[in-house]
Amino acid sequence: MNKFLLTICAALILFTTPAQAQDLGVELEDISAEKYNVHIEKFYATLPQAKGTYKSRQRPIVIEGAMNTETEVLIRALKNPIVYRELNYMFVAGTYKDYPVVVVRTEIGVANAAASTALAIKKFNPCAVINQGTAGGHDPALKIGDIVIGERSFDNSAYRSAYSAAGAGIDLTKQENLGTYAYDATTKKFQAYTEFFPDPTLLRVAKSVADANKNFNVTTGVIGTGNTWYECVDYMNFLHDKYGSSCEEMETNVVAQVCQNAGVPFIGIRVLSNNVTNSREYVAESAKTCQEFVLLVVDDYISDVLKN
Ligand code: SAH
Repeated sequence: MNKFLLTICAALILFTTPAQAQDLGVELEDISAEKYNVHIEKFYATLPQAKGTYKSRQRPIVIEGAMNTETEVLIRALKNPIVYRELNYMFVAGTYKDYPVVVVRTEIGVANAAASTALAIKKFNPCAVINQGTAGGHDPALKIGDIVIGERSFDNSAYRSAYSAAGAGIDLTKQENLGTYAYDATTKKFQAYTEFFPDPTLLRVAKSVADANKNFNVTTGVIGTGNTWYECVDYMNFLHDKYGSSCEEMETNVVAQVCQNAGVPFIGIRVLSNNVTNSREYVAESAKTCQEFVLLVVDDYISDVLKN
């Protein structure tokens, strides 16, 4: 073969082979610093951008995290990562353990989590959605770094307070939870739910991974979701007593809602990055622990459920 043809062949191979994420050598330990976001954005910018629509023979697993710190470990674990964007949300599709996985950076808060989940369901047709990330403790028995598998979630903002007249003072303990509206496949109507439950198979797998990996401190518990960040311990103690909440965060319950609407199996798994009921610390690095645990759950879900 002449030199010219060889050059053409080499160029073709170079430009058609799927790119791998370029490792910029940034240490994950750098996680809480402002500069970390700059580094991680640079890393994300090295990922190839998708052209055209997503195609996969198998329905992928969607794993979600709101922030860069909550998605990097997952994205680095993907083989052949490729970035899709929709309404400025980022979706990174690839494979993990030879099975299609899409990592979604939902962005922070309930509206973003609901919107990006709905888009992910439409775009990728997932067989399961796992929402994961950090949370603040309501249960004083839980420490920073502990993982809560959500055996239940509720909307920690859907309250109707009792009436009290002007000047009577503020007492938020006199309230009821109104729930939020999701589709009921039996009545074929939207109705109010004061709690959502995870898919039983995902819950079983997550619990068995917890039992088999004692290096993670895992419990099952209740996740309260809302665009709120409480640091008033008396009120948090009230929420813990009244609703049994283990922790609070801003995404899980709305993702459970959207997944119920779409009939997609769902689970929420959270790590405590803070717990003002027993400490004033905030440890952003705990986000890594959650992603590492979730990858083990995904691994078992693929081998025990999807490939069987
Ligand atoms: N300081 C953070 C901002 C976190 S905002 C930063 O690094 O930019 C809240 C996000 O963290 C949400 O996605 C929420 O799900 C999670 N979260 C962690 N602890 C929380 C708490 N105590 N209350 C509410 N949300 C919390």
